[in-house]
Amino acid sequence: MKIFAIGQNYSEHNKELNSKHPSEPVVFMKPDTALLKNNKPFYVPDFSQDLHYEAELIVKINRLGKNIAPKFAHRYYAEIGLGVDFTARDLQRRLKDEGKPWEISKAFDNSAVIGSFIPVDALGVVQDIRFRLEKNGIIVQNGHAADMIFPIHELIAYISRYFTLKIGDIVFTGTPAGVGKVIPGDNLQGYIFDQKMFDFDIK
Ligand code: ZN
Repeated sequence: MKIFAIGQNYSEHNKELNSKHPSEPVVFMKPDTALLKNNKPFYVPDFSQDLHYEAELIVKINRLGKNIAPKFAHRYYAEIGLGVDFTARDLQRRLKDEGKPWEISKAFDNSAVIGSFIPVDALGVVQDIRFRLEKNGIIVQNGHAADMIFPIHELIAYISRYFTLKIGDIVFTGTPAGVGKVIPGDNLQGYIFDQKMFDFDIK
């Protein structure tokens, strides 16, 4: 399976990172070795002193597709979940400044946390989903899918121009403002509306 992730998809997050407003989706990938599931603890890797959480709505692809039109994108997934795109921000800054690919700061082992999924039918309008991340019981990110610069159906269409989507592929759809550092001893809990999607510790 493949993991796609979208960068810079919320204006307020772009401001906090001094990123430009993107003219097209910013797509990157993580390998399957990045997956971390079942509320297993996340171990802060030794190559970063500034390891950030990014809570994101995630879409699970359930049909083979290529060159999908936005109006048909809803046929390619039936569940939405919440995940964390862990990012070694110090490494990412340096690589961006040097104009290099940022994979090692984004796609390392266990950097893609996948929580539970909810059937789309139970969620109502997809672009009206609200979600949040709590660090140690305090809300640090409050997301509303309506604030995405490129909505989910446009992301699926865009990605599928370049990559064949397969059953089981996952799309991380970008993070809202409020990203920040984790250290050993922290706990992260994610919610879609008031349903808990993940709850795990940082070690
Ligand atoms: Zn992200």
